[in-house]
Amino acid sequence: MNILHVASEVAPLSKTGGLGDVVGGLPRALAGRPGIHPMVVSPRYGSIDPAEHGLARRLRRVPVPLGDQVFEVEVFEGRLPRSQVPVYLVEHPLFSERTGLYGPGDPPGQDYPDNPLRFALLCRAALGIVQEFGIYPDVVHGHDWQGALAVYYAKRAPLEPPGAHRPAPACVFTIHNLSFLGLCPLSEAPQLSLRPEDTGPDGLEFYGQLSLLKAGLVFSDRLTTVSPRYAREIQTPEFGCGMEGLLGALSGKLVGILNGADYDRWNPATDPYLPQNYGGVEALSTPEGMSRVLAGKARCKAELQRELSLLPRPRAPLCATISRLTDQKGIDLLLAVLEGEEIWQGEMQYVILGSGERAYEERLRVLARRHPGRLAVRIGYDEPLAHRVEAGADLYIMPSRFEPCGLNQIYSLRYGTIPVVRAVGGLDDSVVDFDARSRSGTGFKFHAYEPAALLHAWRRALLAYEGDAEAWQALIRRAMRTDLSWEASSAAYLRVYQQALAAAQPAK
Ligand code: ADP
Repeated sequence: MNILHVASEVAPLSKTGGLGDVVGGLPRALAGRPGIHPMVVSPRYGSIDPAEHGLARRLRRVPVPLGDQVFEVEVFEGRLPRSQVPVYLVEHPLFSERTGLYGPGDPPGQDYPDNPLRFALLCRAALGIVQEFGIYPDVVHGHDWQGALAVYYAKRAPLEPPGAHRPAPACVFTIHNLSFLGLCPLSEAPQLSLRPEDTGPDGLEFYGQLSLLKAGLVFSDRLTTVSPRYAREIQTPEFGCGMEGLLGALSGKLVGILNGADYDRWNPATDPYLPQNYGGVEALSTPEGMSRVLAGKARCKAELQRELSLLPRPRAPLCATISRLTDQKGIDLLLAVLEGEEIWQGEMQYVILGSGERAYEERLRVLARRHPGRLAVRIGYDEPLAHRVEAGADLYIMPSRFEPCGLNQIYSLRYGTIPVVRAVGGLDDSVVDFDARSRSGTGFKFHAYEPAALLHAWRRALLAYEGDAEAWQALIRRAMRTDLSWEASSAAYLRVYQQALAAAQPAK
């Protein structure tokens, strides 16, 4: 089974969030199974240095017809790290001559106006490249709106020369974040090679515009999203972004599969960024092992306090957030709590690493000046620091407004950093609420999107941290034992591919 993944990000080559992690992780997990041959097509952005990643330029150019133009693209070929999974990067000035993946970066969040064309080119090129290389994809797997047209082109405009007698591939589409609808004016339909009959309400039309994401929803044989709870949520007006009616109608082909974590990269026992490694399954099963875990974590915490100029207090609860600073992530809730006095009453320290909306960044800077030695604000994107924060913190705060899956709470569990999360989407599916009496749970949850609810859960967590040391250790042990690896998730995707293949078979 050849599986062609088409996505705008693939870690470690390109990444702005969870999408990149998934496209870097899932194909590797799939490749471990007999007879399964995943491959990835993604852009060669200017930020990707071919030499650094061992990418080889293919000699042959691939002509990609789109609208009334033919784009000539080149291809860089490499492998996902620690795997044989081929990655084909589309080389074209629309990608290589831009500073950012989706926009110039300044102002943050602003998109390039020609993104629909850029990602249509990615999708069309993906099919062109595999054909040029003589690979027939049994399954085309598009990711988010940028990969959605791969599904459409595979179904509607197969590049196969007529008479080759190949059925259209089975198509799977994954929603990593429904809030990015891939909107553009209806008038762009011809240059994106969309058939006129597909630009109505049953096709890609969405409130007088085109939604490229809809191409993935409507034309795929199977639809997935990145957690079971988010699969239910997106069928409601609160989370559906206007697509709830359509998604309800498509619920028969929709399934939620929780993302796996890449425990090769996120493992405190081997993480190269940490001042001291700790953990490992064996360590958790004996009292001596457990004290080594706690000692390792304490060292990481002390070093982190030093690195961030926080007061060197071993017993002060150190809380953390690593996040895009946007509405989705509940930064307004977080700020409402941090701007109050109550949360600062004890010795709590807090570190936030992220970037995004200017107004949030500014309010955080103001706060940092108000709480020197106790609040560290690092604006920017810094992967090594993200690892050190995960290891050094005691609590991880993630109050998202909505969260398709979320990865940092999963990493936090593995690092013994107890998550405090809003019970939505993948946060609800991956964290079990702490219960002191039954000594169960792996974190702390709250429901209402209100500062008081976050504060309540946060204080519950702080009380538990300051209370019974043995109970806290047991909580860390349960969190670290949580196994959300790609093993189970990739098996679920495989079932989806098989269902898609069955659904795509022409009726006999
Ligand atoms: P989303 O995809 O919505 O941004 P996820 O939790 O699914 O959120 O994934 C976020 C990923 O990006 C994680 O791997 C996280 O560590 C990383 N990340 C986010 N912001 C930063 C940052 N400022 N520095 C380093 N890593 C970050």
